[in-house]
Amino acid sequence: MAENLIEIKNLKKYFQTPKGQLHAVDNVTMNIEKGKTVGVVGESGCGKSTLGKTLMRLHTPTSGEILYKGTDIASMSMRQFKKKYRADIQMIFQDPYASLDPRMSVLQLIKEPIAINNPKMSKAEVEQKAQEMMELVGLAKRLESSYPHELDGGRRQRIGIARALSLNPEFIVCDEPVSALDVSIQAQILNLLQDLQEERGLTYMFITHDMSVVKHISDDIAVMYLGQLIEKCPANEIFKDTIHPYSQALLSAIPIPDIHAKKERMILKGELTSPINPKKCCRFAARCPYATEQCFNEEPTLREMRPGHKVACHLAEQFM
Ligand code: SF4
Repeated sequence: MAENLIEIKNLKKYFQTPKGQLHAVDNVTMNIEKGKTVGVVGESGCGKSTLGKTLMRLHTPTSGEILYKGTDIASMSMRQFKKKYRADIQMIFQDPYASLDPRMSVLQLIKEPIAINNPKMSKAEVEQKAQEMMELVGLAKRLESSYPHELDGGRRQRIGIARALSLNPEFIVCDEPVSALDVSIQAQILNLLQDLQEERGLTYMFITHDMSVVKHISDDIAVMYLGQLIEKCPANEIFKDTIHPYSQALLSAIPIPDIHAKKERMILKGELTSPINPKKCCRFAARCPYATEQCFNEEPTLREMRPGHKVACHLAEQFM
């Protein structure tokens, strides 16, 4: 049986706002197997980025557990976490331009995390490792002295990937890593991430709002809605055997590159439920065409409907 690298148990991240408590991540439970990719999808504001940042400990969890190789990193002090696990768990950001210091050259940017995390390395060793990283991610040696503003988005994202990989992580949270890039460059970066995963046995959480991108890279897909995990299944099942009405609506929005293909788009009506102090009900009920009284009064739990396919919907049996 495959080994879980990450086990998330009842994870909550709430933010206090003037209007009440915002339930950004609410009771999320899921596992991520070693060497696999879990694609996390949902509309903006569904909590997927907050989930990724909480796994990275960029946000302190409100409650719940994040087991990394069996150790709970959610309850650790930040000092302990940084000392033991910061290098193991890395993040690739959506906008590499915003996360790169514009005054540093490509080589300096890649040397920076290596030098900080390896204080015993000599300057020559740091430089050599940075050059190896550049080669690994396909950045030509002639770009060593270039600055981020002189590069296109794809090359800037390669710097972000090189910086993340330079610490030899096992788990990488990829937060919309290709959404700011042109389609042709998106494919190059996705291929690079897949090649690196194969070579290094990396485990990814791939966060995106783009279902056609997630299809290419994921082994499993987790669909989030208003802070909650509502469906998780093997990637090939979600594209043919989706169960949750919200997942069906998300999938119906993917464009098909065939002018003769007939596809009915499911347009969602109704108001979005507020994630501030939400009441105990299905959070999709106000927009769901199948909602019953039970849906407005009782929160559905995540149930395994097929092996490895979990759904949070009172009427899941009807949609199978
Ligand atoms: Fe729709 Fe009810 Fe299922 Fe929620 S629980 S998705 S409202 S049918």
